Amino acid sequence: MARKPLIAGNWKMNGTPADGAELARGLRDLLLDPPAVDVAVFPPFLSIGPAVDALKATSVVVGGQDLHAEAKGAYTGNVSGPMLKAAGCGSVLIGHSERRTYEKESGELLAAKVRAALAAELTPIFCCGETLEQRDAGKALDVVRTQLGEGLGGLTATELSRVTIAYEPVWAIGTGRVATPQQAQEVHAAIRAWVGLTWDAGSARAMRILYGGSVKPANVAGIMAEPDIDGALVGGASLKADSFAAIVRFQETA
Ligand code: PEP
Repeated sequence: MARKPLIAGNWKMNGTPADGAELARGLRDLLLDPPAVDVAVFPPFLSIGPAVDALKATSVVVGGQDLHAEAKGAYTGNVSGPMLKAAGCGSVLIGHSERRTYEKESGELLAAKVRAALAAELTPIFCCGETLEQRDAGKALDVVRTQLGEGLGGLTATELSRVTIAYEPVWAIGTGRVATPQQAQEVHAAIRAWVGLTWDAGSARAMRILYGGSVKPANVAGIMAEPDIDGALVGGASLKADSFAAIVRFQETA
């Protein structure tokens, strides 16, 4: 069965709940005509409720940008999977490079977060990607395979079937420097091959692998034309409803 593309917008730490509601309403209006792809948005925690409200009549999935590995307890300042689920989320980002870098999230912690997401019936979007230094040293594929092994390696094939992978080269995130479609395809193909070797060919065929890093209306069509790229995780360009809606429709201009 063909993999249905997913276009996901990561709003990061931008906007008040009122801004989030406005952005979500703008998207709802622009996506009245149902898109051919799956769509998800990842607002800051406080904007999840307003986004869920604004998007309830659509098929757009709302997700969290992070979750705690435990379901509840004395973890001041954190948000758990069951809380996200109860707020109307269907998905959660795990292992974004900004969290790996700024919050020092380890592979072991990320594996626990994947399990917590699955337990809460949230689809984990597990992010991986190399730095420029690692790419220049010829280590991109090794780095990505190590990150994936740490985060996902302990899952059964059934558990893995509920996961989406996002390949996000760190050097392309928020820099305006997008990977070429060929550079992205090479890593996506390697990820799919790794899934096949680690689990089985059916898991590899079914795995949805998103590309992330400076995706915009102007470059989405070229990226999506590659055979192993099944969607995009979009940061900056998801903060404006018209540019995100253009990406969802693979249109060059917003
Ligand atoms: C991201 O943060 O996941 C991302 C891909 O950001 P940007 O599109 O801004 O590079």
